[in-house]
Amino acid sequence: MSEPVRQALARPHLWLTTRDPARPASPIGIPSSAVFIHRLNRAFATFVGLPLHEGKRWHFSTHQGRKTFARFVGKRDRTGLHALQMHFGHVSRIMTDRAYVGTDFELAELIGKEALEETRAALEELLTAPNLAGAAGRMLASRSRFRGRTRDGEVSAYVDFILRDSGMVLGVCDWGYCVYRREHSACQGDEAGPNPAQRTQSVCVRCANFAVTERHRPIWEDRRRRNRALLEHPQLDRESRQLAEQRAAECEQILAELDRGAKHAE
Ligand code: SF4
Repeated sequence: MSEPVRQALARPHLWLTTRDPARPASPIGIPSSAVFIHRLNRAFATFVGLPLHEGKRWHFSTHQGRKTFARFVGKRDRTGLHALQMHFGHVSRIMTDRAYVGTDFELAELIGKEALEETRAALEELLTAPNLAGAAGRMLASRSRFRGRTRDGEVSAYVDFILRDSGMVLGVCDWGYCVYRREHSACQGDEAGPNPAQRTQSVCVRCANFAVTERHRPIWEDRRRRNRALLEHPQLDRESRQLAEQRAAECEQILAELDRGAKHAE
């Protein structure tokens, strides 16, 4: 939202804005929290048609924005993150993940909490899912005694035990779950987690840490559709054709594993 003003002044501040939105040439500044709260609860609330909450008008605060931001950044399953990335105008997801935290330890802690909650939910899903794909998915499917069961107290207690015992947090992944163990990391991650520069769908497919659930099926179906459409193109050169064939085959492999699991569960 503030990009035009940043460009006009060649200044990097995220929240840079004109003091008077009706007069773009008016003095530039970084608005105070009070200004934000005023704008959120007036113009923004009207713009989004904010519904009443328990019969009362909801009061926005900037703190709510931090929590929402932390929830998105802490998300291990990034299938819904693309919109946020666009919103912040970053080319790379690495930026969205790390750049804003800086030395803000309270925000880092908030993100850590959200990441743990998401890890808990994802582990419960992985332990109970009737069908899983990917090497880690196959491993979990063959070993989990909770497979095909509904989530209950016993599953939660077991997840608590795993988290307490291993301190495990799932790696970030946009197209599945990353049951991160550094020694098996095909993207050559470090102690902090997967290596975002090398983490691609093709690399994850070959990685022992990778697990896919039904939640991720649409991503793989979409990727197969796009690559099959590319193969229809009459002027596709040999290298591009090979790449599209390889990618379509990877999608076939993941989707076939999910289908096999679904049949097994019937
Ligand atoms: S390559 Fe492996 S370790 Fe890296 S993100 Fe993918 S699943 Fe995780």
